[in-house]
Amino acid sequence: MDYTFSALNRPAVLASLGQEEFDVLIIGGGITGAGIALDAASRGLKTALIEKNDFAYGTSSRSTKLIHGGLRYLKQLEFGLVKEVGSERAVVHRLAPHLVLPEKMLLPLSEKKGLGYWLTSIGLKVYDILANVKAADQRKMLTRNQTLKQEPLLQKNDIKGGAIYAEYRTDDARLTIEIIKTAFQHGAMIASYVRLEDFLYTNNQVSGVWATDALSKTNIRIKAKAVINATGPWVDQLRSINKSKQGKRLHLTKGVHIVVPHEKLPVKQAIYFDVDDGRMIFAIPRGRTTYIGTTDTNYDGDIDGVITTGADAQYLIQAVNATFQDTLLTFQDIESSWAGLRPLIHEEGKSASGLSRKDEIFESPSGLISIAGGKLTGYRKMAERVVNLIIRKHFPAQQLSPCHTNNIKVCGAEFETSKDVSVYISLIEKKIQSLRLDHCRATYLVHNYGKQTDEIVRLIESYSANDPDLALAKAELEFTFHHEMILTPSDFFIRRSGMLFFNIGRLHKLLEPILQEFKKYFSWSDLEFQQHKTALEKSVQASTAFKRQN
Ligand code: FAD
Repeated sequence: MDYTFSALNRPAVLASLGQEEFDVLIIGGGITGAGIALDAASRGLKTALIEKNDFAYGTSSRSTKLIHGGLRYLKQLEFGLVKEVGSERAVVHRLAPHLVLPEKMLLPLSEKKGLGYWLTSIGLKVYDILANVKAADQRKMLTRNQTLKQEPLLQKNDIKGGAIYAEYRTDDARLTIEIIKTAFQHGAMIASYVRLEDFLYTNNQVSGVWATDALSKTNIRIKAKAVINATGPWVDQLRSINKSKQGKRLHLTKGVHIVVPHEKLPVKQAIYFDVDDGRMIFAIPRGRTTYIGTTDTNYDGDIDGVITTGADAQYLIQAVNATFQDTLLTFQDIESSWAGLRPLIHEEGKSASGLSRKDEIFESPSGLISIAGGKLTGYRKMAERVVNLIIRKHFPAQQLSPCHTNNIKVCGAEFETSKDVSVYISLIEKKIQSLRLDHCRATYLVHNYGKQTDEIVRLIESYSANDPDLALAKAELEFTFHHEMILTPSDFFIRRSGMLFFNIGRLHKLLEPILQEFKKYFSWSDLEFQQHKTALEKSVQASTAFKRQN
């Protein structure tokens, strides 16, 4: 590819989508579609991907943001799933050590809830064996005193012991965009804000799609030998368009997270705790905040309009207040929230929490391949299965390389170990000190952008030093404009920088000057400026809408 993944080059990408014929066209730019695009392009298939909104707009920006084995799936005896995603954790960490961070998880064991000491000990041992966890990271059981020392905030009278085990924390939207960029570097043609409207057929077999560019409102006809439906919660909508929604169907469940300032729930590390209804909830410290989730309730509303309700927030607040002593969270403490949908496969008679998280592939009589279910963590293996199937069906005679995404680092991940990441953070810290930016900003930049931080720091230096934080945001904006295909303020504030969720105060402060920068980059009229501003304000309001309902 001789051009960058910049908004400036979007017209060239759209032209090529309309003119060429692709081996594979993927619909959906969440983690599943991104993974398939990288796998297919890196094996030598001519690949395209379209996404109707921004990349990671769907569930892939609204998860618990863990690369985890799914400890609770052991309870459901899903050994195969735990083995696969558990083993993938170390691989995904190696591919993006700055973005997939080791996180020790504390599991407090209570008198009245959960599995009890011995069953938990055995369960975690099985978890370690299935996922082939290296010795230093294997589970450690704790006494009551050790558990309370580890987390003094826990309700003392209820604790009878605990366990520590290893997981990884990430930023789901950033992981998705880095995989998208890496696929683009491998030759995939990728466009956001392009929506599938209908399928094209030749001899009753899917041979491409009709799509609309949301920005110019023009239609594009994209031809492809294989079309993959990787639209997460929207999978059944596309199967309906393809008239193939028969047999198995999706069962959507909603999961909500709330974000509070870290001082309101100052946990020392990530905690996974039992609640009264038999479910488990995470409290995860991240920078200046702690986030808490998740709920798991059946959902049949508008897939594009899923929000946190007062009842969702209340459930999480109650769970926290019952688990941590001297903590009294209220609605007013919640700074932000997000709500996402799990695209699970329906099983008759099963509750939301009881449904399997395993992925499944459906093939329609007209050749549409749909993939649903699964986890963020397992994206690479899901992609491998889909691409193997495409090759078997459409290109059996072609000499294509086997899957090798386990050796393709994502953009910005030129580190060998977590130690290299720490050394680089110290280096960046020294560099930005003279720009009056502190350690937290260095950590933020490196965890978000990896080695690409070098370029962002160069850009910060080119902006006025009067307001270092604004200079930083302008530099990020310039970088994401030229390398991450941002097209709207929500792309920047929600999915590239995570500001709406984890630093909403900073968003309010920067909103006006950053929108003015957008206006310059995109040559917006006053009307367009106002429309984009209103759209962003709606997203901001949606993240705390439950406060007004209450
Ligand atoms: P999505 O991310 O939803 O992507 C589908 C995309 O398709 C969307 O961006 C959408 O805009 C696009 N699309 C739809 N229709 C069209 C169309 N007509 N044309 C073009 N594009 C279209 N997994 C983990 O491993 N770890 C976790 O910690 C974790 N926590 C979770 C917590 C919650 C609350 C939830 C809901 C899920 C969690 N998961 C977790 C699961 C994981 O997030 C999902 O499995 C994964 O993000 C699904 O990705 P996807 O790409 O399949 O779907």
